[in-house]
Amino acid sequence: MELFFLGTGSGVPSKERNVSSLVLRMLEDRGTTWVFDCGEGTQHQILNTPIRPRRIEMIFITHLHGDHIYGLPGLLSSRSFQGGETPVTVFGPRGLKEYIDISLKLSGTHLRYPLHIKEVDEGILFEDDNCSVEAVKLEHGLESFGYILKEKDQIGELQPDKLQALGIQPGPIYQKIKSQLETKLEDGRVIQRDDVIGPPKKGRKIAILGDTRYIPELKHHVKEADVLVHEATFASEETEMAHDYYHSTVQQAATLAKEAQVKQLVLNHISSRYQGDAIEKLEAEAKEIFKNTVIAYDFYRHSIPRNN
Ligand SMILES: [Zn+2]
Ligand SMILES: [Zn+2]
Repeated sequence: MELFFLGTGSGVPSKERNVSSLVLRMLEDRGTTWVFDCGEGTQHQILNTPIRPRRIEMIFITHLHGDHIYGLPGLLSSRSFQGGETPVTVFGPRGLKEYIDISLKLSGTHLRYPLHIKEVDEGILFEDDNCSVEAVKLEHGLESFGYILKEKDQIGELQPDKLQALGIQPGPIYQKIKSQLETKLEDGRVIQRDDVIGPPKKGRKIAILGDTRYIPELKHHVKEADVLVHEATFASEETEMAHDYYHSTVQQAATLAKEAQVKQLVLNHISSRYQGDAIEKLEAEAKEIFKNTVIAYDFYRHSIPRNN
C-alpha cells in the first residue's frame, strides 16, 4: 500500500502545491486505486505519475468545498475516454449526487462504465473480506468527513518446522492445512491449524481526514492508526484563526496524533502563506509534539508496509 499525494495545498492552487487530492494505491492488495478528494487539476497531476485512472475503484470526497471537488467531473469523464470500464463508486456528503449528475448532464457526458454515487453518514460505508471503511463526522464550514480504512487481520504463516516435527512433508497438504481449521491426514491423524501456524498478521489502519477544526474526541476513532493524514492549514500560533475558519493548526494535528498514539502523521492542506523555511518551521513545531511527522508535498509518496 502506498499513499500518493497529488495536491497538498489549501484553498487555491499555488505554483508549489495543487489543491487537495491523494491516492491510496493498493495494487498488490486488491489491484485497485482509491482516490480521496479531487481538487481542480487532479487529472493533470495524475499525468505526471504512474497512477492509472482505469484502476480507480472508489473515490471518497471529504466535503464539497471547491478545492476538494472541482476536478471530479473531469476525472470521471477522462476515465471513460481512457478506456475505464470497471465500475466506480463515489462516496461523499449530501449534495454530491446532484453535483456530479448536473455536471455530467449539462456537459453531455456519457460514461462508459457504471458510476455509483453514495451519499454518506457516520458509520461503516463499506466492508468486504479484506477491509472496511468507516466515515466519521468532522467540524467544518460544510459537512465534512474523515475516512478510516481498516484492513482485516490475516491468518499467520504456516510454521514448516512444526509441520516437519509432526512428520508432514511439504506439498499441497500445506495449503490444505492453512485453509481450514482442522485437517485429517491420510494416516488418520487430525491436525489443528492453530497448532502449526504463527501469530495473525495485524491489518493496517489508515485515517484520512478532510478539513476540520481540532476535535480531541477524534482520538478514539483514529487510535493507533498506522498513518493519520490530517490537515494543517495554519501554524501553531494561529489557533484563533484556525477556529474561526474551521481549520486546524499544526500543533493541534500533532496533538491528536500523539493522543491517539498513531504510528505516523502526515500533514496536508498547507496554506500557500507558508513556503520554504516556513514549511521547515511548521514541521519542527509538529515534531516537538509528535516526532513521526512529515509534511506532505505534491507527488510525495508514503508507503505503508504490512504489519508483522
Ligand atoms: Zn480545503
Ligand atoms: Zn474546506
